[in-house]
Amino acid sequence: MKEITCKLLVIGAGPGGYVCAIRAGQLGVDTVIVEAQKPGGTCLNIGCIPSKALIHAADEFEKAVHLAAGGSPLGISASAPALNLAKTISWKDGIVGRLTGGVAGLLKKARVKYVQGWAKFRDGKTVEVETETGTQVIKAEVIVIATGSVPVELPFLPFGGNVISSTGALALTEVPQQLAVVGGGYIGLELGTAFAKMGSKVTIVEALPRLLATYDSDLVKPVVKRLGELGVTVMTSAKARSLSSRRDALLVEDADSKDHKISADKVLVTVGRKPLTEGWGLDEIDLDMNGRFVKIDDQCRTSMRGVYAIGDVTGEPMLAHRAMAQGEMVAEIVAGQKRIWDKRVIPAICFTDPEVVSAGLTPEEAKAVTSELMIGQFPFMANGRAMSKLAEDGFVRVVARADNHVVLGIQAVGTGVSELSAAFGLAIEMGARLEDIAGTIHSHPTQGEAFQEAALKALGHALHI
Ligand code: FAD
Repeated sequence: MKEITCKLLVIGAGPGGYVCAIRAGQLGVDTVIVEAQKPGGTCLNIGCIPSKALIHAADEFEKAVHLAAGGSPLGISASAPALNLAKTISWKDGIVGRLTGGVAGLLKKARVKYVQGWAKFRDGKTVEVETETGTQVIKAEVIVIATGSVPVELPFLPFGGNVISSTGALALTEVPQQLAVVGGGYIGLELGTAFAKMGSKVTIVEALPRLLATYDSDLVKPVVKRLGELGVTVMTSAKARSLSSRRDALLVEDADSKDHKISADKVLVTVGRKPLTEGWGLDEIDLDMNGRFVKIDDQCRTSMRGVYAIGDVTGEPMLAHRAMAQGEMVAEIVAGQKRIWDKRVIPAICFTDPEVVSAGLTPEEAKAVTSELMIGQFPFMANGRAMSKLAEDGFVRVVARADNHVVLGIQAVGTGVSELSAAFGLAIEMGARLEDIAGTIHSHPTQGEAFQEAALKALGHALHI
């Protein structure tokens, strides 16, 4: 097979890699991208998008069930809702197909050459790709590693059979009657909540003392309350040990060292993700590491000249929008532009019920920067739009420095707050002060008004509370 030479080679077509390749192509850089599976990576195929599609379907079904049970104060009734999960999954696959097809089209439009196969470094400038038709050698001036991450497997609960990862959960065509979820982070809670709404009896087993341990407890409280309403059993400070000998139950040890047997036709293991650092020749190029991640500097350069790394393989937070922003930056650097990683904030969202958003510093984290803080919190209970949507649980909280009122962090929990994350990110990125948010006219009636009111509250003169 004829050797390919190019200026830029990107390994992995997830959100990091494909954005990098598209931007490089737009800037006229001769670019090749290699992908072993499908364009779009984890995010489009087995992560962000399919999980949100499933969550939406589960929400709609649960609303119908609630109406049928006569639980709606809105005067709406319904009867005998039914869910055909196989049909839901095929609808979800249709969305994934449209998006991955769209990425392939965008790469083509940007004149990026797409090579299908598994890439492996031969040296710092050469990669071999195992394609269906043989080995393709690609030589590049610059190589970007965007190999992403994979689910962590527990040695005593290996994936296979009834033990599934998030990927398996997103492909189920029948709702499990009993689902045990090992790991109460955002992926476990998002999927566990969706299956509870679709009718599974869900038990969440978390080794730490509380769910969503990286978020502060005030943000997590409404989520825990809703899990209770959905009939989800939550076991914290509890350790999953193994499957029962008949493989129809999960054995768990609780905080008091008592053993429990949780019947489960599926056990979903979501105990985190790890960077994909194996199989692509890391040893060949001997890069410096930062723990399990490839070490990068503020331009995403690795320890080898001409080799960059972006996305999940480079560290936390392992989120698609971080990968994309890094990909765009690296493409512009390769095209000769002066760029550096100077982002102030990477918002994080849990698409739980209700949703949780955290942008910048929590009050606890902000205390490490300055002891003098101004904090304003506004409850959705006092927000007209939230009331009219039956979405009164939750709040928006703004954390600012007391000396100059510069906003350090914004958090929210509530129905639909994921859509507020853009405003939160913009405010922090632009260096907004409390007065900037308080002085911005927020459209009425919207949940966004709670953001303005939280800033007003921090300044001591909230209007609607
Ligand atoms: P990936 O998307 O993992 O892509 C890497 C690609 O590289 C893969 O396609 C892989 O096949 C390919 N590859 C790897 N090695 C090679 C090789 N040697 N040769 C060729 N190809 C190779 N993030 C969010 O921001 N929001 C969310 O709501 C969200 N929800 C999620 C839900 C779930 C269930 C999961 C699992 C993840 C979710 N994430 C979410 C995380 C998000 O998917 C990742 O942060 C994001 O996909 C990382 O992008 P990436 O480009 O670094 O890697």
